[in-house]
Amino acid sequence: MSENILEIKDLTLGVTERDGSMAVAVDHISFEVRAGEILGIVGESGCGKSLTVMSLMGLLREDVKALEGQILFQGEDLLAVSEERRREINGKDMSIIYQEPMTSLNPLMRIERQVAEPLRLHGSYSREELHQKALALLTEVGIQDPEACLRAYPHQLSGGMRQRVMIAMATICSPRILLADEPTTALDVTTQAHVLDLLKRINREYGTAILFISHDLGVINRICDRVLVMYAGKIVEAGTNRDILDAPCHEYTRGLIRSIPTRDRKGKELPSIPGRVPSVEDPKEPCPFAPRCRRAMEICHREAPACTRIDQDHIACCHLC
Ligand code: SF4
Repeated sequence: MSENILEIKDLTLGVTERDGSMAVAVDHISFEVRAGEILGIVGESGCGKSLTVMSLMGLLREDVKALEGQILFQGEDLLAVSEERRREINGKDMSIIYQEPMTSLNPLMRIERQVAEPLRLHGSYSREELHQKALALLTEVGIQDPEACLRAYPHQLSGGMRQRVMIAMATICSPRILLADEPTTALDVTTQAHVLDLLKRINREYGTAILFISHDLGVINRICDRVLVMYAGKIVEAGTNRDILDAPCHEYTRGLIRSIPTRDRKGKELPSIPGRVPSVEDPKEPCPFAPRCRRAMEICHREAPACTRIDQDHIACCHLC
């Protein structure tokens, strides 16, 4: 059995509401990221994917708190470590890339300084060594003129180049795990394909585990080995890529699959799931998907569905499974 890099056990995250009470945004989720795999988390906006990733990095907003559970990174509970230990891990063993690199790149600092920053923080290298490492990495992530890129400021680069720079920064210390929060959503289709190929190559060549977040099951399908489907703060289905695409069991997963653009659907309007994801403060049904589910039954409004194991890695939480 492969080693787990991350084990999330019963993680529950609460958001402070206007009246000071706590609303549950991520509800007792458990999963593991295995060494060398690409695990995807898919769901619409507001399902709790990004909050989960931010909690793994220890970067939760002030109004969000971990209420229960454990985040075990190679056995060490990240919810219990000191801030100093957290700083040692972030950027070195675990790093993150975001949807819009401009929000995390410093607009006033040249790219060279930013790419080399994690190495400066976590190692002792001369200026020349830092330059050479940054140069080699920009070449590796496919930047055409890496010397010019190192001298540039972020606004002088295209969106695709900025995302490649972010990936270089995130991987310069050879982390065990890379968290990718919608890293291709802001990119055009061609650049998106290049960035997905690059992440896949990093995973295969260096064995870096990747936790890949997206609202788009089509993108998840192109890069991930296993997939978790999240809805209203819960994992409602999990399985290998094939389990999810060939034998989806939960109605939410089926709805996401129906909305993947394919060649034969070109030019046609894609079916979308009617209704919207409940917000954290909305009262929830026992199956939170019931108000949108076209196969909802009387029991779905009365009893929370248990999670059933369908196959080795495949579980689903629906009365019909
Ligand atoms: Fe639909 Fe019922 Fe399954 Fe929920 S438990 S997804 S409402 S069939």
